[in-house]
Amino acid sequence: MKIGFIGLGNMGNPMAANLAKAGHTVTGFDMADVTVSGVSMAASGPEAAAGADIVITMLPNGQILRAVADEILPAMQSGSVWIDCSTVDVDSARAVADQAKDAGVLAVDAPVSGGIGGAAAGTLTFMAGGSNAGFAKASPLFDIMGQKAVHCGESGAGQAAKICNNMILGVTMIATCEAFALADKLGLDRQKMFDVVSTSSGYSWTMNAYCPAPGVGPQSPSDNGYQPGFAAELMLKDLRLSQQAAESSDADTPMGQAATKLYEQFVETEGGLGKDFSAMLPRFEKRGRG
Ligand code: NAD
Repeated sequence: MKIGFIGLGNMGNPMAANLAKAGHTVTGFDMADVTVSGVSMAASGPEAAAGADIVITMLPNGQILRAVADEILPAMQSGSVWIDCSTVDVDSARAVADQAKDAGVLAVDAPVSGGIGGAAAGTLTFMAGGSNAGFAKASPLFDIMGQKAVHCGESGAGQAAKICNNMILGVTMIATCEAFALADKLGLDRQKMFDVVSTSSGYSWTMNAYCPAPGVGPQSPSDNGYQPGFAAELMLKDLRLSQQAAESSDADTPMGQAATKLYEQFVETEGGLGKDFSAMLPRFEKRGRG
């Protein structure tokens, strides 16, 4: 297949390389001067999109996505498919999908979970929104770049699933970190705390697979000085998207709201910028109730 790939950063770069390695003809474009193994580079987004059977975008946010939509949709051929894998707000996802429909293009919003490691290994999870026809055409590429793709519903449903998942992730990470900090103050050994909680009703992905306490549980960013991993500012971005969606749909999300506030403080005034999102534990460690 002829594929255009726009946005070749930390995630897009290895995803595009995997498509090329699988034998597809991939033409890429990024604002930055990048090279991708097996991918020929175009001079612009529209040039990468022109004549492609499928265009994939992997961009920082909804505003940039809307700008790129304006540029590439006129260049895309009718009946082609546009898969946007960026994490953006639901409203932007739906707006560009409408625009694509008008241009005769099948749009699929398909944000991912699995991080840079998953992108390189081709083991991402895709959560997709869009028509059955769009999802069916995108599926062979999901199989190359990932291990699982769930068709969540109409346009925007993929982004909705992504931000709901990450709202749970942010809230659970905070709960796990504050529980460790409380356990410390109660004189409980961290390994014992892990042994109990990881096999009791408090277990979670953040405790069992990504334990924020160094030297406890499986290898995680806490064992590497809290180098990300998944950076606190990316967690903040996703939590903000969840609160934007909650606002626009009138959903009551007090825990998501509290988590957003805490990550905002952590990133903006408490030195969390550039650290893994599990570095909430040393933050709680240092504090009392006041
Ligand atoms: P990144 O900043 O490394 O890559 C984004 C790329 O887009 C950059 O190379 C940038 O130059 C390019 N770009 C920006 N504007 C452009 C334009 N107008 N035209 C062409 N290229 C343009 O970000 P990333 O880590 O690759 O993340 C991409 C998306 O994936 C984000 O929405 C992020 O939230 C999401 N995501 C990231 C991770 C992760 O672990 N990094 C995990 C899941 C989802």
